[in-house]
Amino acid sequence: MTKLMDSKRGLIMGLANDKSIAWGIAKALSEHGAELCFSYQGEQLKKRVDPLAERLGSDFVVECDVSDEASIDALFDAIKEKWGKIDFIVHAIGFSDKAELRGRYVDTTRSNFNLTMDISVFSFTAVAQRAAKLMPEGGSMLTMTYYGAERVMPHYNVMGVAKAALEASVRYLAEDLGKDGIRVNSISAGPIKTLAASGIGDFRYIMKWNEYNSPLRRNVTIDDVGGSALYLLSDLSAGVSGETHHVDAGYHVVGMKAVDAPDM
Ligand code: NAD
Repeated sequence: MTKLMDSKRGLIMGLANDKSIAWGIAKALSEHGAELCFSYQGEQLKKRVDPLAERLGSDFVVECDVSDEASIDALFDAIKEKWGKIDFIVHAIGFSDKAELRGRYVDTTRSNFNLTMDISVFSFTAVAQRAAKLMPEGGSMLTMTYYGAERVMPHYNVMGVAKAALEASVRYLAEDLGKDGIRVNSISAGPIKTLAASGIGDFRYIMKWNEYNSPLRRNVTIDDVGGSALYLLSDLSAGVSGETHHVDAGYHVVGMKAVDAPDM
C-alpha cells in the first residue's frame, strides 16, 4: 500500500526532546513514509536529537540557530547539497524570556519584544524564503501557533502578540508563494506539557482549565498534532492554504465555563 508521504522529503525544525510537538509531527510523517532532516539549536541539544532522528531512520541532523541568518543559510545549503529539493518544512520554534511569561503584558521590555518577534515570528519568514527556492514543484510549509494569538490568555503576554503576527505572516506567505504551488498553514495547538510550555506561568492551571472546558473534555497530545500536521503536509490538503487549523479539542469554539467543569 502506498503511504501518504512516500517519496516526500522534508525538514523538521524545533525538536528538543521526545515531548516536543516537533516529535509528534516527525513520528506521524515518518510512519507515512517521509524522509526527514532535523535541525537543532546548539550543541547541547544534538545529543538528544541524534538518537531521536535515528529512531526514525535519519542521520541528516544539522545545527541551526534561527536568530542567525548565516546559520539558516548553512542549513539550506546542506539540504540543497544532499537532496537538491525539498517537499515540506515544519517550523516548531518559539522563544521568549520566561521572566515575561508571567504577570502583565504591559510590562514587556523592548529587548524581549524584539527577541520574541525575531525568533518566534520572523524566523518562519526567513526559513520560508530559503525553502521556497528548493520547492520548484511546489510544497507545504507549517508553523505552530496558539489561541493566545486570538484571545487574551493568562501569562502568555508578548508570546500572544508574536503568535498573532505569526498567523498574519502565514496568510501573507500563502499569497506570495501560492502562485508557485507552495501552501503555507499553521496549527493552533491546545496546551501541551513541553519544555517551552514549562516557562509559562500557571501552566498546570491552563492545562486543567482546557481539559474541563474543551468540547472533548481532554487535552490534546503531540500525536493529535502529528495527525493534523500529516494532513496539512500531505496532498490530502492540496486545496488548503493560509489556514490556522485548531487542534485544541475544540476549545476555541467555547464561550464560557462548562456547566460540569469542577471549581478550580
Ligand atoms: P519545545 O521546547 O519542545 O520546542 C521549542 C523549540 O524551539 C526547541 O526545540 C528550541 O530549541 C527551539 N528554539 C528556540 N529558540 C531557537 C533558536 N534561536 N533557533 C532554533 N531553534 C530554537 O516546545 P514545543 O511546545 O514543542 O514548541 C514548539 C512550537 O509549538 C512553539 O512555536 C510553541 O510556541 C508552539 N506551541 C506550543 C504549545 C504548547 O502548549 N506546548 C501550544 C501551541 C503552540
